[in-house]
Order: sequence, then structure tokens, then C-alpha cells
Amino acid sequence: MSQASIGILGAGAAGVAAAKTLRAANPEVQIDLLTRTGERPFNRTLVNKGVAIGLLSPDQAAVPDAGATFVADTVRGIDPRSRQVHLASGESRAYDGMIIATGSRPRTLGEDVLGRDDGLASGRLTTLHSLTDATGIRDRLAALPSSARVLVLGAGVLAAETASLLSTAGHDVALISRSTLPGASVFGEHIAKKLLDLHQARGATYLGRTIQAVRTHPDHIAIVLDGGDRVEGDLAIIAHGTLPAAPSPWNGPEGIPVDDRLRLREAPDQRIYAAGGVVIHEHPDLGAYRIDHWDDAAAQGAHAAHTLLYDHGLGDDPGAYRPVSTFTSSIHGHILAGAGHPTPGSTARLISDDPTVVLHEHAGAPVAATGLDAVALVHQWAPRLHHPHETTNQPE
Ligand SMILES: Cc1cc2nc3c(=O)[nH]c(=O)nc-3n(C[C@H](O)[C@H](O)[C@H](O)COP(=O)(O)OP(=O)(O)OC[C@H]3O[C@@H](n4cnc5c(N)ncnc54)[C@H](O)[C@@H]3O)c2cc1C
Repeated sequence: MSQASIGILGAGAAGVAAAKTLRAANPEVQIDLLTRTGERPFNRTLVNKGVAIGLLSPDQAAVPDAGATFVADTVRGIDPRSRQVHLASGESRAYDGMIIATGSRPRTLGEDVLGRDDGLASGRLTTLHSLTDATGIRDRLAALPSSARVLVLGAGVLAAETASLLSTAGHDVALISRSTLPGASVFGEHIAKKLLDLHQARGATYLGRTIQAVRTHPDHIAIVLDGGDRVEGDLAIIAHGTLPAAPSPWNGPEGIPVDDRLRLREAPDQRIYAAGGVVIHEHPDLGAYRIDHWDDAAAQGAHAAHTLLYDHGLGDDPGAYRPVSTFTSSIHGHILAGAGHPTPGSTARLISDDPTVVLHEHAGAPVAATGLDAVALVHQWAPRLHHPHETTNQPE
């Protein structure tokens, strides 16, 4: 292994955690940490909380050195049989082991939404995923003589958090969502209702609505909803979640399927692993699921590195990966907290009313907990998740 070379494709949460884990286990191994051409490793969670609102420069969102050789050269494709990567520069590199951690890309509006491309080209309609998205939003807001009217399109954590950040910064924010109760499927109905009350106390909401067209004007943008209603703003931010962003041959919307050790499912002996937002987990009990959270991606990166070490005879079997990581998000002065992942088909049960804590259960075991202003209570569930006998009430 000391002579081995490991390629880690992607230098975000999962890739950096994988590099640190391998480096800590073996100071000699050659580790290449690849990112897109022109990019430095950065913390994506700071895209909205820091850069878009002008608190941080893009440089201040950088992540510290992970003890690997950094290569900024977009991976165009991977040949799993030869473990070769083909790079945008024309170079190809072969590795003894490879961890794919290329993350996700933002889901945008459908092709059937009239005027979508004109809106995106103008910058008045934008995703919020990259540092370029963030500086575009920052500069557009800064160029306005007064506070802006911003339309946030979406229903998940990113939409809620971004609406809150912009509203706190003094902007007039309207939330447009296809769902009648944004976030209900992820946080449970009780928490989603409380978050909706918080939004509605601060700005307009358009719920259960479908976006039919985007009309871009020199000084504003209009989102046309079903029934023909127009909602106008200076800027519209798409926060419709993410899709996996894998290089060829996995560049469809499905992501990279892995087994429970995070080995490539189609070739588990090939010493190719995948971690983070690019991965689709196919679990016999939990079903197929995908997670795009910073701490979970980092946990997956470390887990994939431990499996790689085990496969090289340099460590113990890390066991099956189970999502138990925690997250918090500040929304309109309240803290949304989560632990684990509400897998498809899980049911949500209120286990504490004040503060609100919801337990998500799947096949008789708790798989996630979410709560509002209940960080400690929610995080207490992390070590108890995935244990069937733990489907009781809130721990004392
Ligand atoms: C605005 C925003 C705010 C967020 N806030 C939070 C938060 O508060 N808490 C939270 O838990 N999660 C948050 N998330 C989600 C979190 O950032 C992601 O889940 C996490 O970054 C996923 O880690 P990853 O390693 O899978 O991918 P990323 O961190 O996105 O890293 C992917 C890496 O792969 C590289 N890459 C991609 N394609 C290629 C290629 N073809 N060749 C070479 N390199 C490539 C990229 O350059 C990058 O280095 C936020 C996301 C966004 C967009």
C-alpha cells in the first residue's frame, strides 16, 4: 500500500474526508485529490450562508489542505476495468484504488417551462449551488438601489434557509412551491407547518403551484404560475434540490450505485468506491436512497476510505454504512435540526410537542429524527438510529 496511488475524484465534503482518513492511516501512500478545472476545494455550505449574502469572499469558503496532491482537471470519464480516469486536459491517470466523490448538480426548472433559458442567461433566474452562482446573486443584490424582491423557488432546507437569510438581510422574499406544505416529506408535517408559519409571517407564499413560464425583462423577472398568475421580482432563485453529478459512464440522473460498504455495486472487487451526493444507496431493508448533506457526505467519504484500507489488508472491516449524521439550519431565528435520513417509505411520528421532535421510522426501527429548537434532543437520537428496539419515545 505504501507504493499505492489512490485517486479521489472530487474535493468537497466526501473527497476531503476520504483523503484525510487515508493520510492519517498511511503517510506514504500517493493520494491525488481531483477537482474541476479552475476550482479550489471549498465548503459548499457557505455558498448561501457566506458568499451569496456578501459575508465571505469565495476564497474564505476554501477548505484546508487534506494532505493530498491537488489536481484541478475535470474528470471527463472513468474506465472502471483499468481504473483509469480521463481528464479535460487530455491526460489519463491510472490508480490502484479510486474513490468517486463528485457530488451533485442543481436541479433546474423543466425544459417545458417557457422562457427558462432566457431567464438563466440573464442571471435574473439562477440556481444556488456553485461559488459562481453565489457571486452572481451577491453582485445583483448589491447593484440594486434598495432592498430586492427575491422569489425563492423550492420547498426543502436550502429554499427555507435561503429565504430566511435574504429576509434577515432586509430583502422582500416570496416562496413559490409545488408542494402545499413545503418540507413535509423531509421534516414531517408538524415541523413543516411551523416553518410555513415563520415564512408567512415574513413574506408571501405561493403553495401548491406549478411554474409554467418565466418572463425576463430588463429590470425584473416574472414567474408565471398555473392559472396565469404572475409573481414579479428582481431575482428568482431555483432551490429544487440536486441530482448526482457523476462522470461518464454514470452521467445519467441515477447516480452511482454502491453496496453497503460503499464499493461500486456493479464491480465490488474493482477497488472503486463512491461517497457523498453522487451515490445512490440500494439497501435491502431501507430501499434506494440518496443523501446530500455535508456531514453525511464526509462520513461516507471516511467510510469509503476505511473500506479501501480493509480491501488492501490495512484495516478492519468498517461494517455496513448507516446514515446517522446530524445537521442544523437556522431558519427565521429558529434552529431546524436533524439526525439520520428519513428513507423513502419511512413514517413520521411526533414524539415531543414542545419543543417539536419528530421520529422517522422504517420497518420497525428509527432512521431519523428532526426537530425545531431541539438540537440536543434530536442529536441524542443519532447513536440510537437503525436499532429496532429503540422505537420508543424521546430519550430522557
Ligand atoms: C447553497 C448550499 C448550502 C448548503 N448548506 C448545507 C448545510 O448547511 N448543511 C449541510 O449539511 N449541507 C448543506 N448543503 C449540502 C452540502 O453542501 C452537500 O451535501 C455536500 O457538499 C456534498 O458533499 P460531496 O462531497 O458529495 O460534494 P461536494 O462537496 O459538492 O464536492 C464535489 C466535488 O467534486 C468536484 N467535481 C465534480 N465533478 C467533477 C469532475 N467531473 N471532475 C473533477 N471534479 C469534479 C467538485 O469540484 C467538488 O470538489 C448545502 C448545499 C448548497 C448548494
